[in-house]
Amino acid sequence: MTRVFNFSAGPAALPESVLRQAADEMLDWKGSGMSVMEMSHRGKEYMAIHAQAEADLRELLAIPANYKVLFLQGGAIGQNAIVPMNMLRGKTSADYINTGEWAKKSIKEAKNYCKVNVAATAEDTGFTSVPPQSTWKLDPNAAYVHICSNETIGGVEYHWVPDLSATGVPLIADMSSNILSRQIDVSQYGLIYAGAQKNVGIAGTTLMLVRDDLLKPARKLPLMLQYGVQAKDQSRHNTPPVFAIYLSGLVFKWILKQGGLDAVHKANMAKAKIIYDVLESVPFFKGHARPDSRSLMNITFRCPTEQLDELFVKEAFKNGMDQLKGHRSTGGMRASTYNAFPTDGCKALADFMREFAKKHG
Ligand code: PMP
Repeated sequence: MTRVFNFSAGPAALPESVLRQAADEMLDWKGSGMSVMEMSHRGKEYMAIHAQAEADLRELLAIPANYKVLFLQGGAIGQNAIVPMNMLRGKTSADYINTGEWAKKSIKEAKNYCKVNVAATAEDTGFTSVPPQSTWKLDPNAAYVHICSNETIGGVEYHWVPDLSATGVPLIADMSSNILSRQIDVSQYGLIYAGAQKNVGIAGTTLMLVRDDLLKPARKLPLMLQYGVQAKDQSRHNTPPVFAIYLSGLVFKWILKQGGLDAVHKANMAKAKIIYDVLESVPFFKGHARPDSRSLMNITFRCPTEQLDELFVKEAFKNGMDQLKGHRSTGGMRASTYNAFPTDGCKALADFMREFAKKHG
């Protein structure tokens, strides 16, 4: 068996030990005589798996008691609509910060539900950095402020948390691609959402952290889409994605075993540095994001020409490095180095980049 260095932006590389454990437990979960996929979502075995996953996540992120943890469906894209549906709470407008492709999608969808004030945008700089909070033109009547904490496509990340304490307006973050990559202070957010298929687990569940006082929507919504209903029913208003939640639980245990979020953050910084060091020292390559806003999870760069970008991706593949092609909207290359991505993969890419530049520069 050969496993490639998988630089995919998501679904992304999982820890090998998690995959092995899932394989070992596939036919018979801990003597139950059945797979997790075959269990009743209200049976004691599955209930224990679900509760343990939540407990481990609470430990990892030190989630305060007044926050609910939900495992929903519909992905982060679904939340682009479900967030405004639930979070307007009688108000008619919301603030959005436009940092790139994912923020743009959130903005477009929110416009179907409310007046959107784009309080700041990085469009004029080609989405290469996060606009500083001092430049934001916030609407005092906004129901919430929405950010995308890591732009998976552009490779642009917030390395600070917006401070809204003076206004009391809740901060909402799409953390799909950097949740669990470092420690955060959950209490600085009203709501956090994240598709699971990067640092949490596999596609099929959306992780949500919601502050208690924000749970009641002011308008009539389908029960499935009401955070308050899902919180009351512990994410089991209908049949939850049991296998995706089980797998998230295995990943949470794996992070705990690594030493928790400070340990994975340290490793993530070291891994990203291996590649950013090449971008800084080899002028053949051009990094997309400005150094103060560049992502630890998605490293975006290009060669001098599109032909060389194409060749780079092809040759890297021949050398055991897969999924390096950048998103069609930005072009170039993107190396995603989530928690489970190995340091050796970053070293292999850095060596390959240096060789490639020497040959084609
Ligand atoms: N937001 C961000 C930042 C993402 O990276 C992604 C997926 N790549 C999404 C939203 C959409 O997530 P999903 O496909 O789970 O709906």
